Amino acid sequence: MSDKSFKAEKVIEGMAKKLNRQIVGSLVACVHCGMCTDSCHYVLANPDDPTYAPAYKADRIRKIFKRHYDWTGRVLPWWVGAKSVNTDEDLEEIKDIVFGKCTNCRRCTINCPMGVDYATFNRMMRGLLVSVGVMPEGVAVVSKDQWEIGNQMGVLKEDYLDTIEWMESEMKEELEDPDFSIPIDKMDADVIYTINPREVKYDPRTIADAAKIFYLAGENWTMPSEGWDMTNFGLFSGDDALGGAVALRVYEKMKELRGGKLVISECGHGYRSTRCEGPNWAGIDQDFLMESSVLTMLDYVKSGKIEVDKTRNTASYTFHDSCNNARSCGLYEEPRELLNLVVSDFREMYPNRNENYCCTGGGGAMSMSEYTPLRLKSAKIKADQLKATGASVVVTSCHNCVDGLTDLIKHYNLGMEVTQLVNLVSNAVIIPEKVGEKVEVEPKVKKLPLEGKKILVVDDEPDILVFFTSVLEDNGATVFEATNGEDAIALLIKEKPDMMTLDINMPGKDGGWVFENLRKNPDIAETKVCIVTGRPELRRLIYDRPVPPPEGYLDKPVDEETLLLNVKKIIEVG
Ligand code: SF4
Ligand code: SF4
Repeated sequence: MSDKSFKAEKVIEGMAKKLNRQIVGSLVACVHCGMCTDSCHYVLANPDDPTYAPAYKADRIRKIFKRHYDWTGRVLPWWVGAKSVNTDEDLEEIKDIVFGKCTNCRRCTINCPMGVDYATFNRMMRGLLVSVGVMPEGVAVVSKDQWEIGNQMGVLKEDYLDTIEWMESEMKEELEDPDFSIPIDKMDADVIYTINPREVKYDPRTIADAAKIFYLAGENWTMPSEGWDMTNFGLFSGDDALGGAVALRVYEKMKELRGGKLVISECGHGYRSTRCEGPNWAGIDQDFLMESSVLTMLDYVKSGKIEVDKTRNTASYTFHDSCNNARSCGLYEEPRELLNLVVSDFREMYPNRNENYCCTGGGGAMSMSEYTPLRLKSAKIKADQLKATGASVVVTSCHNCVDGLTDLIKHYNLGMEVTQLVNLVSNAVIIPEKVGEKVEVEPKVKKLPLEGKKILVVDDEPDILVFFTSVLEDNGATVFEATNGEDAIALLIKEKPDMMTLDINMPGKDGGWVFENLRKNPDIAETKVCIVTGRPELRRLIYDRPVPPPEGYLDKPVDEETLLLNVKKIIEVG
């Protein structure tokens, strides 16, 4: 009888199917010279702990390979340091290495004279662990959403279409043009525009900005009603089957619409997954063009399809290279060229391009809350890099980096803002006179957007209560506060608010209890709910309940703009 656990056996068996020339080359090539050591942000933050060194982390996987798939390790395991995995505890220990101590940023690869690509077999190991259910809970939650709902943030089709309609009406007003539209499922368009679900949930302005740019460039474009999520959690989880299924959704919709070119909005892992890795995972050849929206916007500016005025972006800007866009896909110069066309004060960050440090939220790290303290500690080098630029705004072409950078900027009190090229191009673009001539604009009395709305804020953290309340009151809402579940239910019954923001994790009766009681009480069941949590894995405490789901959710930390955008959307006010 085997001395190994069932899961350990499956992981060893599965490794045989994953080994290819690239992975085996990296597994056997390391000469332990140590030149990669200082390239890793985890090492820089933990200089006295050798277990963070890339070669040390890689060796834990390499030892398994040697023990089972390399003849020297099979015959003389003690000689080559081969070591198998035997128990579920062994797998848990490896989980903490491959998910918790590496963001798959590939900076060590660039600095290895032997060409060892640790991140590639780190991803392989993630996939093997995921195949036996050993993974951080956040990875399980996000993967489930992408398998079942078709996008990694669980955005329902109606929410996606509602958000686009909302942005369309915002742009009609901004451009003063009733003919402005965001076409959906238009056949034979030259451009099919795909996005990150984060844009729908937290940053719909990026959709509006892109739409404005396409419109002013006179593009024949559309957004698909399905297969619109170009992100792919398979890249982070190592699950090639998920990676292939997600990529295929995008490709199939593109073909169904007979689109000319697939344009991928600013997202590093989405770009890498959809354009570079997806066809391999899906096992198909692609015969249509795919490009980053950075290239599309650059072409519009350089060809004169849109005119820009760089003096409109008045701050000082630096640029953060996303690991996936830059190191893995070679997108170094185009974003800088575009940035220099739309801002006057650009300050390079050092090191940059292929030597840039990860935002430290890469590789899916933002979804793994158990490793947050280590992630933020390892972000020190990135914080130092940002600070040294003296810029007030950091620009990045990646939604994941926006979140990673925002989090570390807050943690290290840098006082910087984060934005993307699409926002800067949109702000700089000159709107031709003819667009504005189409409607007469009535002078309006400015009304606060949440005037007349009642909102209950439920959270046990005093600073969140103060922050949410002041943002919502500044925008016209009447706000009630509760710090525990019982008070929340009492206020819901008494005040009948239009909506509630609800923290899940509270002492005593938690958010899950409040949510189920609310939905089961016919007097208050229709109250709109926005779940707020700093621990995405707790979302199942809400979504697994036998009641209609909440109208929205937000992950902490929440900034003012995100809070307001989501509250307005949930409460359905323009
Ligand atoms: S630089 Fe390359 S060869 Fe040297 S220790 Fe790191 S992975 Fe091994
Ligand atoms: S891939 Fe990045 S995070 Fe992982 S070991 Fe290498 S440098 Fe460190």
